[in-house]
Amino acid sequence: MAFENMKTMLHKARHEGYAVGAFNIVDLNSTRAVIDAASELRAPVIIQTSPKTVIFWGPQILAGWVKSLAQQSPFPVALHLDHCKDLEVIRQCIEAGWTSVMIDASSRPYQENLALTRQVVGIAATSDVSVEAELGEIGGVEDDKSVADADARLADPANAESFCRQVEIDCLAPAIGTAHGIYKGEPRIAFDRLAEISRRVPLPLALHGGTGLSPDVFRQCIRLGCAKVNISTQLKHTFFDSFVGYHGEHRDQYDPLKALACQYERLKQDVRCLIELFGARGKGE
Ligand SMILES: [Zn+2]
Repeated sequence: MAFENMKTMLHKARHEGYAVGAFNIVDLNSTRAVIDAASELRAPVIIQTSPKTVIFWGPQILAGWVKSLAQQSPFPVALHLDHCKDLEVIRQCIEAGWTSVMIDASSRPYQENLALTRQVVGIAATSDVSVEAELGEIGGVEDDKSVADADARLADPANAESFCRQVEIDCLAPAIGTAHGIYKGEPRIAFDRLAEISRRVPLPLALHGGTGLSPDVFRQCIRLGCAKVNISTQLKHTFFDSFVGYHGEHRDQYDPLKALACQYERLKQDVRCLIELFGARGKGE
């Protein structure tokens, strides 16, 4: 199947009460693991790339892998640019074939966030690319951006409603207390706020900082309108632990393909478990 627009996937998910996993990949092996896991479960999936990963490989090469793997899958695959502040990178990704982009202007005042988001929606519209925007400020570390807990601001429901009326985005990421990276204590999720945002905003919502949330928290957030769940940190850990772990157990072997095969299986297993948890099994049909 060719790429599918994220908008189509997420509308169906919000309507039917499940979430599509958006998994951050870093190379061909991790991309293959995510697409194969989704395909085995007949689920739609979002391949998510950080701007750092895009710059490391180059947009053309990266889009080439994802496209060729997506074509082998009979189920919908979207290619999404995560947390980007740089309009030039956004333009390059759209040109190279990304199906959606996230403009992250959340550290700016409301009006500036709105103006920049509008600009990106204008650029994306000419190529039928979907747009995700962030309101409030999600804590933790993502790529080179670090937001201290004290600076993380939750999204205001009234602002969320007016923002989505003033600019035609396809998905909103409201800060609701989750954080990027590893949680230091028990995450405090503002479920009431999420419920209020969900009541005022009919769009699919994106849940960031998914790594380390309990199955129960995931289920509640999905029930309250989160139709996209981002997973990055967990896969980074599995990426390293599986590769290094394999070598630790086979010290005399220097066959990279065996270590890559082990890494692929472990990543695929993680992604399968999460897709099941998000209720997306069979939803790609
Ligand atoms: Zn995020």
